[in-house]
Amino acid sequence: MRNPATRRPETRQFPKGIPSLDFAGGRDNFSDICGQIRYGSWEMSDLADEYKEFVIPTYGRFDLDLVRGSGARVWDGNGREYLDFGAGIAVCSLGHAHPEITAAIAEQAATLVHTSNLYRTIPQARLARRLVEITGPGKIFFCNSGAEANEGLIKLARRFGSLSSRHEILTFDGSFHGRTMAGISATAQGKVKKGFGPLLEGFRHLPFGDLGAVRAAVGPETVAILVEPVQGEGGIHIARAEFLRGLRQICDEKNLLLLFDEVQCGLGRTGAWCGWKSITPEIEPDGVSWAKGIANGFPLGAFWVSSRSSGGSAPLCDLLGPGSHGTTYGGNPVACRAALAVLDILSREGMVEKAGELGRLLHASLEEANLPGVVGIRSLGLMAGVQLDPHAFPKEGGPPASQVVVAAMDAGLLIIPAGECVVRFLPPLNVTSEEIREAVTKFKTSLAKSLNS
Ligand code: PLP
Repeated sequence: MRNPATRRPETRQFPKGIPSLDFAGGRDNFSDICGQIRYGSWEMSDLADEYKEFVIPTYGRFDLDLVRGSGARVWDGNGREYLDFGAGIAVCSLGHAHPEITAAIAEQAATLVHTSNLYRTIPQARLARRLVEITGPGKIFFCNSGAEANEGLIKLARRFGSLSSRHEILTFDGSFHGRTMAGISATAQGKVKKGFGPLLEGFRHLPFGDLGAVRAAVGPETVAILVEPVQGEGGIHIARAEFLRGLRQICDEKNLLLLFDEVQCGLGRTGAWCGWKSITPEIEPDGVSWAKGIANGFPLGAFWVSSRSSGGSAPLCDLLGPGSHGTTYGGNPVACRAALAVLDILSREGMVEKAGELGRLLHASLEEANLPGVVGIRSLGLMAGVQLDPHAFPKEGGPPASQVVVAAMDAGLLIIPAGECVVRFLPPLNVTSEEIREAVTKFKTSLAKSLNS
């Protein structure tokens, strides 16, 4: 996805012998001495060559080297500013370099970084309590990523199913559940599975929203349904309330677990603490996975399991007993401390409710802008997907979403593609209304530039 138009003209090398600058961040930390650009103590060079030589090329990266962020903005190696409406793919809910989160991380790093899960720590206990308060009666397991959180839910389903010799999990077309072997087996999107067979057995993918198909698919081996209440990577598809309610009913009738993947839509982004509660608050799932926005970019994943009966001697949340599951870094004190700071700030500032209001503003601004080449806008809170008309963009320029994302980058706006024809807006939850209007203006300019002439 390299775009020659945005390539820097030359690799900049910094001469030896010039003293290091303080790397404490801040706008003034860019320096341009005799035409040599530095950021803090790093000499800015074109990172593309280093990536090419030393980094396994699993990502189709855009041609942009980022060095610093503040709020909803980031800066590249040449000091150019971008409005970040991707927020690290729905991760930096409170924007970049939030002083309170930085302080929490620094304080915990100076106190206790790691202990292993052989022992208890204060941040892990407090965060587990907080997540239970947000979600409902149950317990939490901590891990490191969204894929690992889903992996845990899948193991929970298998353990639950082992009581009745069932193992099959139903998931949905367009879904994305992560890149581990279980994650790609659960994911319906074929592109993530290619070349990795044999996959984990026991997953079936059904049309998203089709309750009849779900009813017909449940068989003697089915044990759980795993669903994203708002599909993220699939292009922002929002489950209908009747669909989620119907899934709950089927799960109750057939003794299946209802598992929500809230890795992208959870913890405030949709305008409620739980994504599904923005759609239909009365539903009680059996398990929920999180990652992304949970610690504003400090790596952390988690899953919640309901305290309801499992039908056996232990409640569902105690089915994964001692020795059944684990991960070295899960619930690391620094990560938990960062997450506690995120949840505290979101609550204190009423930002979850504000995300709902700002989301409505984003949706209305996109609608009112009369955007060329756009055929639809789907959004819930600050998760918005813009559907592009595939015929409106030059065929030779590659997928329309990539063309528009590159043009937006040139206009100083970062947004995220989802498949070939959708671009996502996932700004921080503390974005301002002015920043939303600025983003929509930049987006309109970039659409106009990318369209067939
Ligand atoms: N589930 C959903 C809904 C996601 O959007 C993602 C990542 O995009 C994942 C799972 C995987 O999360 P991670 O990349 O942290 O493993």
